[in-house]
Amino acid sequence: MLERCGIGISSGIVVEKAYVFRHSEVYVSYDTVDDADAALQEFESAYRRTHAEIDAIEADGDEGEAILAVYKAMLEDPDYLSLIRGNIKERKHNAAWAVEAATDKYVSLLERVDDDFFKERIADLRDISGRLISEILSSSRLEINVPYPAILVADYLQPSEMISMDLSNVKGLCLDKGGITSHIAILARSMNIPSVFALSSLSFEVSDEDTIAMDGKTGNVVINPDRKTRSLYRKKLDKEIRKEAALGEDIEGAVTADGFAVKLMGNIEGLDGIESLIKAGADGIGLFRTEFLMMLPDYADNEKRSAIYRETVERMSPYGPVTFRTYDIGGDKIPNEMKIKEENPILGWRAVRLCLEEKDLFRDQLISILKASAGYSDVRLMFPMISGSEELQSVIAFLDSVKDECREKGIEFADDIKIGTMIEVPSAAITADVIARYVDFMSIGTNDLIQYTIAVDRSNEKISYLYRPLHPAVLRLLKHIVDSAHENGIPVSMCGEMAGYADYLPILIGLGLDELSMAPSSIAEARRRIRKLSRSSCASFVNHVLSLSDAKEIEKALKEFNCGKA
Ligand code: PEP
Ligand code: MG
Repeated sequence: MLERCGIGISSGIVVEKAYVFRHSEVYVSYDTVDDADAALQEFESAYRRTHAEIDAIEADGDEGEAILAVYKAMLEDPDYLSLIRGNIKERKHNAAWAVEAATDKYVSLLERVDDDFFKERIADLRDISGRLISEILSSSRLEINVPYPAILVADYLQPSEMISMDLSNVKGLCLDKGGITSHIAILARSMNIPSVFALSSLSFEVSDEDTIAMDGKTGNVVINPDRKTRSLYRKKLDKEIRKEAALGEDIEGAVTADGFAVKLMGNIEGLDGIESLIKAGADGIGLFRTEFLMMLPDYADNEKRSAIYRETVERMSPYGPVTFRTYDIGGDKIPNEMKIKEENPILGWRAVRLCLEEKDLFRDQLISILKASAGYSDVRLMFPMISGSEELQSVIAFLDSVKDECREKGIEFADDIKIGTMIEVPSAAITADVIARYVDFMSIGTNDLIQYTIAVDRSNEKISYLYRPLHPAVLRLLKHIVDSAHENGIPVSMCGEMAGYADYLPILIGLGLDELSMAPSSIAEARRRIRKLSRSSCASFVNHVLSLSDAKEIEKALKEFNCGKA
Protein backbone atom coordinates (compact mmCIF):
# COMPACT_ATOMS: atom_id res chain seq x y z
CA MET A 1 0.00 0.00 0.00
CA LEU A 2 1.40 3.38 -1.10
CA GLU A 3 0.01 6.74 -0.10
CA ARG A 4 0.29 10.00 -2.02
CA CYS A 5 -1.14 13.46 -1.51
CA GLY A 6 -1.81 15.89 -4.32
CA ILE A 7 -4.20 18.80 -4.80
CA GLY A 8 -7.88 17.93 -4.35
CA ILE A 9 -9.53 19.24 -7.52
CA SER A 10 -13.01 17.78 -7.75
CA SER A 11 -14.56 16.15 -4.75
CA GLY A 12 -15.74 12.58 -4.59
CA ILE A 13 -14.52 9.27 -3.20
CA VAL A 14 -13.62 6.47 -5.59
CA VAL A 15 -12.12 3.04 -5.13
CA GLU A 16 -11.41 1.54 -8.55
CA LYS A 17 -8.87 -0.10 -10.79
CA ALA A 18 -6.31 2.16 -12.44
CA TYR A 19 -5.86 2.76 -16.14
CA VAL A 20 -2.55 4.45 -16.92
CA PHE A 21 -1.89 6.76 -19.86
CA ARG A 22 1.38 8.59 -20.47
CA HIS A 23 1.95 10.89 -23.41
CA SER A 24 5.64 10.13 -23.35
CA GLU A 25 4.83 6.56 -24.25
CA VAL A 26 2.97 7.37 -27.41
CA TYR A 27 4.93 5.60 -30.12
CA VAL A 28 4.49 4.48 -33.68
CA SER A 29 2.45 1.31 -33.75
CA TYR A 30 2.71 -1.10 -36.65
CA ASP A 31 -0.94 -1.93 -37.03
CA THR A 32 -2.70 -1.99 -40.35
CA VAL A 33 -5.93 -0.07 -40.72
CA ASP A 34 -9.33 -1.10 -42.08
CA ASP A 35 -10.23 2.36 -43.25
CA ALA A 36 -7.40 3.53 -45.51
CA ASP A 37 -9.33 6.66 -46.53
CA ALA A 38 -9.54 7.81 -42.91
CA ALA A 39 -5.81 7.13 -42.42
CA LEU A 40 -5.09 9.08 -45.59
CA GLN A 41 -7.11 12.01 -44.32
CA GLU A 42 -5.25 11.83 -41.03
CA PHE A 43 -1.98 12.07 -42.94
CA GLU A 44 -3.18 14.89 -45.19
CA SER A 45 -4.29 17.00 -42.27
CA ALA A 46 -1.02 16.36 -40.37
CA TYR A 47 0.82 17.24 -43.59
CA ARG A 48 -1.00 20.56 -43.88
CA ARG A 49 -0.22 21.42 -40.25
CA THR A 50 3.44 20.50 -40.67
CA HIS A 51 3.67 22.55 -43.83
CA ALA A 52 2.11 25.54 -42.08
CA GLU A 53 4.60 25.09 -39.24
CA ILE A 54 7.56 25.09 -41.64
CA ASP A 55 6.11 28.06 -43.56
CA ALA A 56 5.86 30.00 -40.31
CA ILE A 57 9.58 29.60 -39.52
CA GLU A 58 11.45 32.80 -40.17
CA ALA A 59 14.83 31.99 -41.65
CA ASP A 60 17.86 33.62 -40.12
CA GLY A 61 20.25 34.84 -42.84
CA ASP A 62 21.17 33.22 -46.18
CA GLU A 63 22.18 29.92 -44.67
CA GLY A 64 18.94 29.66 -42.73
CA GLU A 65 16.99 30.38 -45.87
CA ALA A 66 18.88 27.71 -47.79
CA ILE A 67 18.15 25.10 -45.11
CA LEU A 68 14.50 26.06 -45.06
CA ALA A 69 14.32 25.78 -48.84
CA VAL A 70 15.73 22.23 -48.62
CA TYR A 71 13.15 21.36 -45.94
CA LYS A 72 10.33 22.62 -48.09
CA ALA A 73 11.65 20.76 -51.12
CA MET A 74 11.74 17.55 -49.12
CA LEU A 75 8.31 18.09 -47.70
CA GLU A 76 6.95 18.65 -51.18
CA ASP A 77 8.96 15.88 -52.87
CA PRO A 78 6.32 14.09 -54.99
CA ASP A 79 8.12 10.72 -54.80
CA TYR A 80 8.33 10.84 -51.01
CA LEU A 81 4.70 11.84 -50.73
CA SER A 82 3.48 9.20 -53.16
CA LEU A 83 5.47 6.57 -51.25
CA ILE A 84 3.67 7.57 -48.03
CA ARG A 85 0.26 7.68 -49.70
CA GLY A 86 0.96 4.32 -51.37
CA ASN A 87 1.87 2.77 -48.02
CA ILE A 88 -1.51 3.83 -46.70
CA LYS A 89 -3.66 3.05 -49.73
CA GLU A 90 -2.06 -0.17 -50.89
CA ARG A 91 -0.35 -1.60 -47.83
CA LYS A 92 -2.94 -0.31 -45.31
CA HIS A 93 -0.24 1.07 -43.01
CA ASN A 94 -1.53 3.44 -40.38
CA ALA A 95 -0.53 7.08 -41.10
CA ALA A 96 2.45 7.29 -38.72
CA TRP A 97 3.86 3.96 -39.83
CA ALA A 98 3.42 4.94 -43.49
CA VAL A 99 5.59 8.03 -42.92
CA GLU A 100 8.18 6.09 -40.98
CA ALA A 101 8.42 3.32 -43.58
CA ALA A 102 8.69 5.82 -46.48
CA THR A 103 11.37 7.75 -44.59
CA ASP A 104 13.39 4.59 -43.85
CA LYS A 105 13.32 3.72 -47.53
CA TYR A 106 14.47 7.21 -48.54
CA VAL A 107 17.18 7.23 -45.91
CA SER A 108 18.59 3.93 -47.14
CA LEU A 109 18.69 5.38 -50.68
CA LEU A 110 20.47 8.52 -49.48
CA GLU A 111 22.98 6.44 -47.53
CA ARG A 112 24.02 4.66 -50.71
CA VAL A 113 24.74 7.88 -52.61
CA ASP A 114 28.41 8.79 -52.49
CA ASP A 115 27.86 12.48 -51.95
CA ASP A 116 28.20 14.38 -48.67
CA PHE A 117 25.42 16.79 -49.55
CA PHE A 118 22.89 13.96 -49.81
CA LYS A 119 24.22 12.22 -46.69
CA GLU A 120 23.75 15.44 -44.73
CA ARG A 121 20.16 15.56 -45.87
CA ILE A 122 19.37 12.41 -43.85
CA ALA A 123 19.11 14.39 -40.60
CA ASP A 124 16.85 16.93 -42.30
CA LEU A 125 14.59 14.21 -43.62
CA ARG A 126 14.41 12.61 -40.17
CA ASP A 127 13.46 15.99 -38.75
CA ILE A 128 10.71 16.45 -41.32
CA SER A 129 9.35 12.95 -40.80
CA GLY A 130 9.56 13.41 -36.99
CA ARG A 131 7.41 16.52 -37.30
CA LEU A 132 4.91 14.70 -39.50
CA ILE A 133 4.72 11.74 -37.13
CA SER A 134 4.32 13.88 -34.07
CA GLU A 135 1.53 15.82 -35.79
CA ILE A 136 -0.20 12.53 -36.63
CA LEU A 137 0.25 11.24 -33.09
CA SER A 138 -0.84 14.49 -31.53
CA SER A 139 -4.22 14.05 -33.14
CA SER A 140 -4.46 10.32 -32.48
CA ARG A 141 -3.46 11.07 -28.86
CA LEU A 142 -6.89 12.60 -28.54
CA GLU A 143 -8.31 9.13 -28.54
CA ILE A 144 -7.48 8.10 -25.02
CA ASN A 145 -9.60 5.07 -24.59
CA VAL A 146 -10.27 3.77 -21.08
CA PRO A 147 -11.40 0.22 -21.76
CA TYR A 148 -12.85 -0.68 -18.35
CA PRO A 149 -14.34 1.26 -15.39
CA ALA A 150 -11.25 2.87 -13.89
CA ILE A 151 -9.47 5.81 -12.37
CA LEU A 152 -7.54 7.35 -15.23
CA VAL A 153 -3.97 7.99 -14.11
CA ALA A 154 -2.05 10.19 -16.56
CA ASP A 155 0.96 12.46 -16.70
CA TYR A 156 -1.21 15.35 -17.88
CA LEU A 157 -4.19 15.99 -20.12
CA GLN A 158 -4.95 18.71 -22.62
CA PRO A 159 -8.43 20.28 -22.63
CA SER A 160 -8.90 19.15 -26.24
CA GLU A 161 -8.12 15.56 -25.21
CA MET A 162 -10.46 15.58 -22.27
CA ILE A 163 -13.34 17.19 -24.10
CA SER A 164 -13.25 14.72 -26.95
CA MET A 165 -12.63 11.45 -25.10
CA ASP A 166 -15.27 8.95 -24.07
CA LEU A 167 -15.48 9.40 -20.32
CA SER A 168 -18.06 6.73 -19.61
CA ASN A 169 -15.47 4.47 -17.96
CA VAL A 170 -13.60 7.27 -16.19
CA LYS A 171 -14.67 7.11 -12.56
CA GLY A 172 -11.88 9.30 -11.27
CA LEU A 173 -8.87 11.20 -12.53
CA CYS A 174 -5.36 11.38 -11.06
CA LEU A 175 -2.76 13.51 -12.85
CA ASP A 176 0.94 14.02 -12.19
CA LYS A 177 0.56 17.67 -13.16
CA GLY A 178 -2.07 20.42 -13.22
CA GLY A 179 -3.21 23.35 -11.12
CA ILE A 180 -6.43 24.04 -9.28
CA THR A 181 -7.87 26.44 -11.87
CA SER A 182 -6.37 24.81 -14.97
CA HIS A 183 -8.94 24.16 -17.68
CA ILE A 184 -8.63 20.43 -17.05
CA ALA A 185 -9.58 21.04 -13.42
CA ILE A 186 -12.54 23.14 -14.55
CA LEU A 187 -13.69 20.39 -16.92
CA ALA A 188 -13.30 17.73 -14.23
CA ARG A 189 -15.47 19.73 -11.82
CA SER A 190 -18.02 20.50 -14.45
CA MET A 191 -18.26 16.84 -15.45
CA ASN A 192 -18.32 15.82 -11.80
CA ILE A 193 -15.30 13.54 -12.08
CA PRO A 194 -13.54 13.14 -8.72
CA SER A 195 -9.99 14.33 -9.37
CA VAL A 196 -6.63 14.81 -7.73
CA PHE A 197 -3.79 16.63 -9.53
CA ALA A 198 -0.13 17.42 -8.84
CA LEU A 199 0.68 13.83 -7.90
CA SER A 200 4.27 14.17 -9.10
CA SER A 201 5.18 10.77 -10.55
CA LEU A 202 2.08 8.72 -9.79
CA SER A 203 1.70 7.67 -13.41
CA PHE A 204 5.08 5.93 -13.15
CA GLU A 205 4.27 4.25 -9.85
CA VAL A 206 0.96 2.73 -10.86
CA SER A 207 0.21 0.01 -13.37
CA ASP A 208 -3.02 -0.90 -15.12
CA GLU A 209 -5.36 -2.80 -12.84
CA ASP A 210 -3.69 -1.71 -9.59
CA THR A 211 -6.47 -0.60 -7.28
CA ILE A 212 -6.63 3.03 -6.22
CA ALA A 213 -8.63 4.70 -3.48
CA MET A 214 -8.89 8.45 -3.94
CA ASP A 215 -10.48 11.39 -2.19
CA GLY A 216 -10.98 14.30 -4.60
CA LYS A 217 -11.53 16.75 -1.76
CA THR A 218 -8.48 16.14 0.40
CA GLY A 219 -6.19 15.08 -2.46
CA ASN A 220 -5.34 11.76 -0.77
CA VAL A 221 -4.60 8.79 -3.01
CA VAL A 222 -3.84 5.26 -1.85
CA ILE A 223 -2.44 2.65 -4.21
CA ASN A 224 -3.53 -0.90 -3.53
CA PRO A 225 -5.30 -0.04 -0.25
CA ASP A 226 -5.60 -2.72 2.40
CA ARG A 227 -8.99 -3.88 3.66
CA LYS A 228 -9.12 -1.35 6.48
CA THR A 229 -8.42 1.57 4.12
CA ARG A 230 -10.97 0.36 1.57
CA SER A 231 -13.66 0.18 4.20
CA LEU A 232 -12.70 3.66 5.45
CA TYR A 233 -13.11 5.07 1.92
CA ARG A 234 -16.42 3.26 1.46
CA LYS A 235 -17.73 4.82 4.68
CA LYS A 236 -16.61 8.25 3.50
CA LEU A 237 -18.43 7.63 0.23
CA ASP A 238 -21.68 6.70 2.00
CA LYS A 239 -21.47 9.88 4.06
CA GLU A 240 -20.94 11.99 0.93
CA ILE A 241 -23.88 10.40 -0.86
CA ARG A 242 -26.18 11.15 2.09
CA LYS A 243 -24.94 14.75 2.29
CA GLU A 244 -25.45 15.33 -1.44
CA ALA A 245 -28.94 13.86 -1.38
CA ALA A 246 -29.91 16.20 1.48
CA LEU A 247 -28.50 19.25 -0.34
CA GLY A 248 -30.19 18.38 -3.61
CA GLU A 249 -33.71 18.55 -2.19
CA ASP A 250 -33.71 22.28 -1.56
CA ILE A 251 -33.57 24.55 -4.59
CA GLU A 252 -35.08 27.76 -3.27
CA GLY A 253 -33.23 31.08 -3.61
CA ALA A 254 -29.91 32.01 -2.10
CA VAL A 255 -30.69 34.85 0.30
CA THR A 256 -28.60 35.81 3.31
CA ALA A 257 -30.09 35.88 6.80
CA ASP A 258 -30.48 39.68 6.48
CA GLY A 259 -32.22 39.52 3.10
CA PHE A 260 -29.45 40.06 0.51
CA ALA A 261 -30.21 37.94 -2.56
CA VAL A 262 -27.42 36.50 -4.67
CA LYS A 263 -28.03 34.84 -8.02
CA LEU A 264 -26.36 31.44 -8.31
CA MET A 265 -25.61 30.69 -11.93
CA GLY A 266 -23.80 27.88 -13.68
CA ASN A 267 -20.73 27.54 -15.88
CA ILE A 268 -21.06 25.15 -18.81
CA GLU A 269 -18.95 24.01 -21.75
CA GLY A 270 -21.74 22.46 -23.82
CA LEU A 271 -25.23 21.00 -23.51
CA ASP A 272 -24.08 18.39 -21.02
CA GLY A 273 -24.15 20.69 -18.02
CA ILE A 274 -27.72 21.96 -18.52
CA GLU A 275 -29.59 19.10 -16.87
CA SER A 276 -27.46 19.32 -13.72
CA LEU A 277 -27.92 23.09 -13.61
CA ILE A 278 -31.69 22.79 -13.76
CA LYS A 279 -31.58 20.08 -11.10
CA ALA A 280 -29.42 22.25 -8.87
CA GLY A 281 -31.90 25.14 -9.20
CA ALA A 282 -29.45 27.47 -10.97
CA ASP A 283 -30.64 31.01 -11.72
CA GLY A 284 -29.26 30.84 -15.25
CA ILE A 285 -25.97 30.37 -17.06
CA GLY A 286 -23.29 32.84 -16.03
CA LEU A 287 -20.64 31.50 -18.38
CA PHE A 288 -20.89 29.34 -21.48
CA ARG A 289 -17.28 28.63 -22.49
CA THR A 290 -18.10 28.41 -26.20
CA GLU A 291 -14.54 27.59 -27.30
CA PHE A 292 -14.81 24.06 -25.91
CA LEU A 293 -17.31 23.08 -28.62
CA MET A 294 -14.64 24.05 -31.16
CA MET A 295 -12.47 21.23 -29.83
CA LEU A 296 -15.02 18.56 -30.67
CA PRO A 297 -14.71 17.19 -34.21
CA ASP A 298 -18.52 16.78 -34.28
CA TYR A 299 -18.94 20.53 -33.90
CA ALA A 300 -16.25 21.67 -36.31
CA ASP A 301 -19.04 23.21 -38.35
CA ASN A 302 -20.41 26.62 -37.23
CA GLU A 303 -23.99 25.63 -38.07
CA LYS A 304 -23.84 22.81 -35.55
CA ARG A 305 -22.46 25.10 -32.86
CA SER A 306 -25.19 27.56 -33.72
CA ALA A 307 -27.85 24.92 -33.08
CA ILE A 308 -26.32 24.22 -29.67
CA TYR A 309 -26.50 27.91 -28.73
CA ARG A 310 -30.16 28.02 -29.67
CA GLU A 311 -30.96 24.83 -27.78
CA THR A 312 -29.17 26.17 -24.71
CA VAL A 313 -31.31 29.30 -24.75
CA GLU A 314 -34.50 27.33 -25.31
CA ARG A 315 -33.79 24.95 -22.43
CA MET A 316 -32.37 27.40 -19.93
CA SER A 317 -34.28 30.62 -20.43
CA PRO A 318 -37.23 29.60 -18.19
CA TYR A 319 -34.74 29.61 -15.31
CA GLY A 320 -32.72 32.76 -16.01
CA PRO A 321 -30.26 34.47 -18.31
CA VAL A 322 -27.89 32.66 -20.64
CA THR A 323 -24.45 34.25 -20.95
CA PHE A 324 -22.41 33.33 -24.01
CA ARG A 325 -18.76 34.17 -23.79
CA THR A 326 -17.28 34.63 -27.25
CA TYR A 327 -14.42 32.28 -28.17
CA ASP A 328 -11.57 32.28 -25.66
CA ILE A 329 -9.36 30.33 -28.05
CA GLY A 330 -5.62 30.34 -27.36
CA GLY A 331 -3.52 29.63 -24.29
CA ASP A 332 -4.17 25.95 -23.58
CA LYS A 333 -7.44 25.89 -25.53
CA ILE A 334 -6.45 25.25 -29.11
CA PRO A 335 -8.88 23.56 -31.47
CA ASN A 336 -7.19 20.68 -33.28
CA GLU A 337 -7.34 22.23 -36.70
CA MET A 338 -5.81 25.52 -35.57
CA LYS A 339 -2.09 25.70 -35.64
CA ILE A 340 -1.07 28.13 -32.93
CA LYS A 341 2.38 27.72 -31.50
CA GLU A 342 3.68 30.54 -29.37
CA GLU A 343 6.56 31.06 -26.99
CA ASN A 344 4.26 32.45 -24.37
CA PRO A 345 0.69 31.44 -25.22
CA ILE A 346 -0.90 32.58 -21.96
CA LEU A 347 0.20 36.14 -22.72
CA GLY A 348 -0.26 35.70 -26.42
CA TRP A 349 -2.75 35.50 -29.23
CA ARG A 350 -5.85 34.60 -27.30
CA ALA A 351 -9.56 35.37 -27.05
CA VAL A 352 -10.60 38.78 -28.50
CA ARG A 353 -7.04 39.37 -29.70
CA LEU A 354 -7.42 36.37 -31.98
CA CYS A 355 -11.07 37.05 -32.83
CA LEU A 356 -10.37 40.61 -33.96
CA GLU A 357 -7.95 39.18 -36.52
CA GLU A 358 -9.89 36.07 -37.44
CA LYS A 359 -12.88 38.22 -38.31
CA ASP A 360 -14.85 35.60 -40.26
CA LEU A 361 -14.73 33.19 -37.36
CA PHE A 362 -15.75 35.96 -34.94
CA ARG A 363 -18.49 37.27 -37.21
CA ASP A 364 -19.99 33.80 -37.67
CA GLN A 365 -20.05 33.27 -33.93
CA LEU A 366 -21.62 36.65 -33.20
CA ILE A 367 -24.34 35.99 -35.79
CA SER A 368 -25.00 32.58 -34.19
CA ILE A 369 -25.33 34.11 -30.72
CA LEU A 370 -27.52 36.93 -32.02
CA LYS A 371 -29.75 34.42 -33.79
CA ALA A 372 -30.01 32.36 -30.60
CA SER A 373 -31.29 35.46 -28.78
CA ALA A 374 -34.27 36.03 -31.10
CA GLY A 375 -37.50 36.02 -29.13
CA TYR A 376 -35.78 35.82 -25.73
CA SER A 377 -35.36 38.64 -23.28
CA ASP A 378 -32.31 37.67 -21.31
CA VAL A 379 -29.54 36.44 -23.53
CA ARG A 380 -26.18 37.97 -22.75
CA LEU A 381 -22.99 38.18 -24.73
CA MET A 382 -19.62 38.79 -23.15
CA PHE A 383 -16.06 39.21 -24.30
CA PRO A 384 -13.05 37.45 -22.74
CA MET A 385 -9.56 38.82 -22.05
CA ILE A 386 -10.43 42.48 -22.56
CA SER A 387 -7.37 44.48 -21.54
CA GLY A 388 -8.80 48.00 -21.65
CA SER A 389 -11.55 50.26 -22.94
CA GLU A 390 -9.98 50.70 -26.37
CA GLU A 391 -10.05 46.98 -27.08
CA LEU A 392 -13.56 46.77 -25.65
CA GLN A 393 -14.74 49.55 -27.94
CA SER A 394 -13.23 47.73 -30.94
CA VAL A 395 -15.15 44.53 -30.21
CA ILE A 396 -18.36 46.45 -29.53
CA ALA A 397 -17.92 48.34 -32.85
CA PHE A 398 -17.41 45.02 -34.60
CA LEU A 399 -20.52 43.60 -32.92
CA ASP A 400 -22.49 46.69 -34.02
CA SER A 401 -21.40 46.11 -37.62
CA VAL A 402 -22.51 42.48 -37.37
CA LYS A 403 -25.86 43.58 -35.94
CA ASP A 404 -26.27 45.97 -38.91
CA GLU A 405 -25.50 43.15 -41.28
CA CYS A 406 -28.14 40.98 -39.57
CA ARG A 407 -30.71 43.75 -39.87
CA GLU A 408 -29.93 44.16 -43.57
CA LYS A 409 -30.31 40.44 -44.16
CA GLY A 410 -33.47 40.17 -42.07
CA ILE A 411 -31.81 37.93 -39.46
CA GLU A 412 -33.80 38.30 -36.26
CA PHE A 413 -32.21 38.84 -32.87
CA ALA A 414 -33.09 40.40 -29.53
CA ASP A 415 -32.41 44.12 -29.90
CA ASP A 416 -31.86 44.46 -26.16
CA ILE A 417 -29.27 41.67 -25.96
CA LYS A 418 -27.04 42.56 -23.01
CA ILE A 419 -23.37 43.17 -23.68
CA GLY A 420 -20.79 42.51 -21.02
CA THR A 421 -17.13 41.95 -20.53
CA MET A 422 -15.03 39.67 -18.48
CA ILE A 423 -12.64 41.36 -16.14
CA GLU A 424 -9.70 39.00 -15.96
CA VAL A 425 -6.70 41.08 -16.98
CA PRO A 426 -5.22 43.38 -14.30
CA SER A 427 -5.22 46.39 -16.65
CA ALA A 428 -8.97 45.95 -17.15
CA ALA A 429 -9.51 45.47 -13.43
CA ILE A 430 -7.63 48.67 -12.59
CA THR A 431 -9.62 50.61 -15.19
CA ALA A 432 -12.93 48.91 -14.37
CA ASP A 433 -14.43 52.35 -13.60
CA VAL A 434 -13.87 53.32 -17.26
CA ILE A 435 -14.80 49.95 -18.73
CA ALA A 436 -18.10 49.87 -16.81
CA ARG A 437 -19.35 52.82 -18.90
CA TYR A 438 -19.45 50.75 -22.07
CA VAL A 439 -21.24 47.58 -20.92
CA ASP A 440 -24.43 46.27 -19.34
CA PHE A 441 -22.63 43.96 -16.93
CA MET A 442 -19.18 42.77 -15.90
CA SER A 443 -18.07 39.29 -14.91
CA ILE A 444 -14.88 38.65 -13.01
CA GLY A 445 -12.70 35.81 -14.26
CA THR A 446 -10.63 35.16 -11.17
CA ASN A 447 -8.78 32.23 -12.71
CA ASP A 448 -6.95 34.52 -15.08
CA LEU A 449 -7.10 37.61 -12.92
CA ILE A 450 -5.17 35.83 -10.16
CA GLN A 451 -2.79 34.25 -12.67
CA TYR A 452 -1.90 37.60 -14.22
CA THR A 453 -1.92 39.65 -11.02
CA ILE A 454 0.45 37.37 -9.12
CA ALA A 455 2.30 36.23 -12.26
CA VAL A 456 1.62 32.59 -11.47
CA ASP A 457 0.74 30.13 -14.22
CA ARG A 458 -2.61 28.67 -13.15
CA SER A 459 -1.79 25.25 -14.64
CA ASN A 460 1.64 24.83 -13.12
CA GLU A 461 1.53 22.71 -9.98
CA LYS A 462 5.13 23.62 -9.08
CA ILE A 463 4.12 27.16 -8.18
CA SER A 464 0.58 26.48 -7.04
CA TYR A 465 1.56 27.59 -3.53
CA LEU A 466 1.69 31.13 -4.97
CA TYR A 467 -1.79 30.95 -6.43
CA ARG A 468 -3.62 32.75 -3.61
CA PRO A 469 -7.15 34.07 -4.26
CA LEU A 470 -6.89 35.93 -0.95
CA HIS A 471 -3.74 37.84 -1.85
CA PRO A 472 -4.39 41.47 -0.80
CA ALA A 473 -3.66 42.62 -4.36
CA VAL A 474 -6.44 40.37 -5.66
CA LEU A 475 -8.89 41.49 -3.00
CA ARG A 476 -8.19 45.16 -3.68
CA LEU A 477 -8.83 44.57 -7.38
CA LEU A 478 -12.06 42.71 -6.65
CA LYS A 479 -13.28 45.56 -4.46
CA HIS A 480 -12.44 48.13 -7.11
CA ILE A 481 -14.26 46.14 -9.81
CA VAL A 482 -17.40 45.61 -7.73
CA ASP A 483 -17.53 49.25 -6.62
CA SER A 484 -16.93 50.49 -10.17
CA ALA A 485 -19.77 48.36 -11.50
CA HIS A 486 -22.18 49.57 -8.83
CA GLU A 487 -21.18 53.22 -9.20
CA ASN A 488 -22.09 52.85 -12.88
CA GLY A 489 -25.36 51.14 -12.06
CA ILE A 490 -24.52 47.76 -13.60
CA PRO A 491 -24.47 44.30 -12.01
CA VAL A 492 -21.26 42.40 -11.44
CA SER A 493 -20.79 38.68 -11.42
CA MET A 494 -17.91 36.32 -10.68
CA CYS A 495 -17.48 33.31 -12.93
CA GLY A 496 -13.95 32.21 -12.02
CA GLU A 497 -13.48 29.14 -9.82
CA MET A 498 -13.20 31.30 -6.70
CA ALA A 499 -16.98 31.73 -6.87
CA GLY A 500 -17.48 27.98 -6.46
CA TYR A 501 -15.50 27.58 -3.24
CA ALA A 502 -18.00 27.98 -0.42
CA ASP A 503 -15.31 29.04 2.05
CA TYR A 504 -14.80 32.29 0.12
CA LEU A 505 -18.47 33.26 0.31
CA PRO A 506 -18.16 35.67 3.28
CA ILE A 507 -15.70 37.70 1.20
CA LEU A 508 -17.75 37.55 -2.01
CA ILE A 509 -21.01 38.44 -0.25
CA GLY A 510 -19.25 41.15 1.74
CA LEU A 511 -17.83 42.67 -1.44
CA GLY A 512 -21.39 42.86 -2.80
CA LEU A 513 -21.20 40.61 -5.89
CA ASP A 514 -24.64 40.29 -7.45
CA GLU A 515 -24.15 36.95 -9.12
CA LEU A 516 -21.87 33.97 -8.65
CA SER A 517 -21.39 31.50 -11.46
CA MET A 518 -19.88 28.08 -10.79
CA ALA A 519 -19.79 24.39 -11.68
CA PRO A 520 -23.28 22.85 -11.25
CA SER A 521 -22.00 20.62 -8.45
CA SER A 522 -21.07 23.62 -6.26
CA ILE A 523 -24.46 25.37 -6.34
CA ALA A 524 -26.27 23.46 -3.59
CA GLU A 525 -23.51 23.96 -1.03
CA ALA A 526 -23.17 27.66 -1.92
CA ARG A 527 -26.90 28.17 -1.37
CA ARG A 528 -26.80 26.42 1.99
CA ARG A 529 -23.86 28.51 3.17
CA ILE A 530 -25.23 31.85 1.89
CA ARG A 531 -28.39 31.42 3.94
CA LYS A 532 -26.32 31.24 7.09
CA LEU A 533 -24.43 34.46 6.37
CA SER A 534 -25.37 38.01 7.15
CA ARG A 535 -24.52 40.51 4.42
CA SER A 536 -23.76 43.27 6.90
CA SER A 537 -21.33 41.22 8.98
CA CYS A 538 -19.67 39.96 5.76
CA ALA A 539 -19.27 43.60 4.65
CA SER A 540 -17.59 44.56 7.94
CA PHE A 541 -15.42 41.48 7.68
CA VAL A 542 -14.31 42.52 4.18
CA ASN A 543 -13.41 45.98 5.49
CA HIS A 544 -11.30 44.30 8.12
CA VAL A 545 -9.47 41.90 5.76
CA LEU A 546 -8.71 44.72 3.34
CA SER A 547 -6.57 46.25 6.07
CA LEU A 548 -4.50 43.07 6.48
CA SER A 549 -1.12 42.87 4.84
CA ASP A 550 -0.73 39.37 3.42
CA ALA A 551 -2.62 36.35 2.15
CA LYS A 552 -1.67 34.26 5.17
CA GLU A 553 -3.28 36.69 7.60
CA ILE A 554 -6.40 36.96 5.45
CA GLU A 555 -6.69 33.18 5.12
CA LYS A 556 -6.42 32.83 8.89
CA ALA A 557 -9.05 35.53 9.48
CA LEU A 558 -11.41 33.86 6.99
CA LYS A 559 -10.96 30.49 8.62
CA GLU A 560 -11.87 31.98 11.97
CA PHE A 561 -14.85 33.79 10.47
CA ASN A 562 -16.08 30.55 8.91
CA CYS A 563 -15.72 28.75 12.25
CA GLY A 564 -17.76 31.48 13.91
CA LYS A 565 -14.80 32.84 15.84
CA ALA A 566 -14.48 36.20 14.14
C1 PEP B 1 -11.46 32.93 -15.64
O1 PEP B 1 -10.39 33.24 -16.14
O2 PEP B 1 -11.70 33.05 -14.41
C2 PEP B 1 -12.54 32.38 -16.46
C3 PEP B 1 -13.74 32.21 -15.99
O3 PEP B 1 -12.24 32.01 -17.73
P1 PEP B 1 -11.36 30.70 -18.11
O4 PEP B 1 -11.24 29.87 -16.87
O5 PEP B 1 -12.07 29.99 -19.19
O6 PEP B 1 -10.06 31.28 -18.55
MG1 MG C 1 -10.24 33.39 -18.27
